[in-house]
Amino acid sequence: MNYYCLTATLLAPLAIQRTRQNNAPGALPYLPGSSLRGAVAAKYLREGGSPDDDEFRTLFIENPVFFSNLLPTDHDGKIISQVLPLTSVSCKRYPGFTDENGHGVRDILAKKMLERIDPDNYSEQACIKCDNDLKGLSGFWNGNMVAPRMFQPTMFFQRHTGIDRTTGTVAPAIFFITQAISDFQKTLTGDYECQILSCGMFMNDRQIAVLEPLFKTPLFAGQDRTRGMGELQVAVEPFNIETPDIDTWDRNFKGIIKHNAGDNLDPALLSGLYFSLKLESHAILVDEFLRSTTEIELTLPCIEPVLKVTKSQLIRGWNDAWGLAKPDDMGIIMGSVYLFRYTGNNREGLRQYLNKLAIDGKLAIDGIGLRRAEGFGSVLICDPLHTRKEAI
Ligand SMILES: [Zn+2]
Repeated sequence: MNYYCLTATLLAPLAIQRTRQNNAPGALPYLPGSSLRGAVAAKYLREGGSPDDDEFRTLFIENPVFFSNLLPTDHDGKIISQVLPLTSVSCKRYPGFTDENGHGVRDILAKKMLERIDPDNYSEQACIKCDNDLKGLSGFWNGNMVAPRMFQPTMFFQRHTGIDRTTGTVAPAIFFITQAISDFQKTLTGDYECQILSCGMFMNDRQIAVLEPLFKTPLFAGQDRTRGMGELQVAVEPFNIETPDIDTWDRNFKGIIKHNAGDNLDPALLSGLYFSLKLESHAILVDEFLRSTTEIELTLPCIEPVLKVTKSQLIRGWNDAWGLAKPDDMGIIMGSVYLFRYTGNNREGLRQYLNKLAIDGKLAIDGIGLRRAEGFGSVLICDPLHTRKEAI
């Protein structure tokens, strides 16, 4: 298994509807892994392949590729974007990173943990620059603490009228709106650049050998493909992935706990080894009876859950092969954060377990929960943003 970076250049606007309701025309600002997977499968079959081929089976059935969400990125497409955690906050009036003329983004995971333990010490935080309230900030960013940058695609609305089938003219009282990601973006200097989406994916040599020829010509994804929407040129390149340094993360996180708690610090809070897990895509978690849950169970003993900051989300989809809607699933939203503490003595064992989870093992390759081949349940271990004291 090797790690690859996929970049998709939009050759036409891309529309992925948020809901199945026609009266709510919102579109997603990214391309979900399930749509990418559907687009690749459709292309394979359209070019004369069959679902019984070995090539098709190696991509989608036996040990399938887990297609990640393609997220907006910069104009080079060299960065794999990250999701801002649900614990990140910014100024209500001037949200965003300081480098991008916002009033800064900070993370409140440690603060939330202390508030949970001692609710009396709860204090509303205000922006240090303008004293307005802080509000949660969501979106995609480059994950770079030194030069942070948000990636926001340009979204636009298209207006449509209905055509009367008898007269061939505009039908009265039929007017609807759809939303889409624009295929270009205007830069600060006034130039126009192509909109690029990127993601990281694990694949073996056989899978990449089947995929590469498929990416030589454009793919089509999303709605309104017959009107020329959703055309993408995909490229794939090997990518290096870094191992998270769990010990440094734990040390820095304890520093934040000390800083936030001040004189009220309970020394017991500094025992054990903390680590966090952030959902990079929506996750569909179920318990042993297949009921939906918000808990993540790690199998190593002596790991205790400390805090989770999650939101749920109804996950809908459409299966082109069936011509039917996929069953709705209740999921946990991307950006959700889980904080754990290890209280055992075998730290080396824990480090190996987490590195295995993070890099070459179960979590990073397989993710968590159900429908992982469609990009659900991708995780990031120990996001450094949680251990940042100052706003960036
Ligand atoms: Zn402010």
